[in-house]
Amino acid sequence: MNATSNTRIPYIVCDQVTKSFGSHQVLQGVSTSFSKGEVTVIIGASGSGKSTLLRALNRLEPHDGGTITIDGVPVTDHEATLQKQRCEVGMVFQQFNLFGHMTVLDNITLAPRRIHKTPRATANAKALQLLERVGMQDHAHKYPWQLSGGQQQRVAIARALAMEPQVMLFDEPTSALDPEMVQEVLEVMRGLAQSGMTMIVVTHEMGFAREVADRVMFFDQGCIAHEAPPAEFFARPANERIAAFIGRVA
Ligand code: ADP
Ligand code: MG
Repeated sequence: MNATSNTRIPYIVCDQVTKSFGSHQVLQGVSTSFSKGEVTVIIGASGSGKSTLLRALNRLEPHDGGTITIDGVPVTDHEATLQKQRCEVGMVFQQFNLFGHMTVLDNITLAPRRIHKTPRATANAKALQLLERVGMQDHAHKYPWQLSGGQQQRVAIARALAMEPQVMLFDEPTSALDPEMVQEVLEVMRGLAQSGMTMIVVTHEMGFAREVADRVMFFDQGCIAHEAPPAEFFARPANERIAAFIGRVA
C-alpha cells in the first residue's frame, strides 16, 4: 500500500458474490473490496473457491449472484465494457499460457497491437522495456519452449503488464515451477508491488505473504473466513483451521 495515503479508495468491490457449479455453491456470498495500491494475498485450502473468485473478477467465470464492480462499473456480459475491464485487470495463471508458436516479443505485443492498435514499433519498444523489468531482455526472440518455467512465467507477467492494467491478479503463479525458479518469479512480483501496483495474489508462499502483502485473506468453503494484516494474521491465527493451514504450508 502506498504509505503516504491512508485513505482506502475501493477499486474492485465484491458484494455478496455467489457462484455455483450445478448444485455445488463454490462462492457463498463474498463481500470485500480491493483498493488502489493494495497487495492482497489470498490463501486457503484447495477447492475453497480462490480461483473461482479471481476468474469471476474478469468474468472468465460469470458469477450468478451479488455484484462485482471495477472502478464503479458492474462486471457483466456487456461486451464493450467487459473488453475495457479486461484491459484494466491483468491476469497471470499457474500454467503460464504463453502462445507456443510465437516469440516472446510477439506474445507480449499481440494484445496491444490487436486491441489497443499500438503500432508494431511502439509495441516492440514497450515490450523490450517490460522484458528488462522482468529480467528477460536477452530472450525477446526465443520461443516459449526454449525457456525455463520461471522464465516463461516472467514473460507471462510482462505480457499482462503490456496492457497497462490497473490491477494484476495472480493465481498460484509459482505452483507449477521447480523450486529453484520460484524466487525469481516472486522477486519480479515483489518489484511490482514496490512500484505501487494493485495486486491480488493467490499463493502458498507464506514468506511472500508476510513480506509483501498489505493484508492476508483466508478463504474457507467459499467464504472469506478471516482477513488481517500479515503481522497479525501469522502471529495470532484467528482460529484452529487457520493455524492448521499455516502449519501445513509453512
Ligand atoms: P481453489 O482455487 O481454491 O482450489 P476453485 O475455485 O478452483 O478452488 O474450485 C472451487 C470448487 O469449484 C472446487 O470444488 C472445484 O472442483 C469446483 N469447480 C471449479 N471450477 C469448476 C468448473 N468449471 N466446473 C465445475 N466445478 C468447478
Ligand atoms: Mg485454484
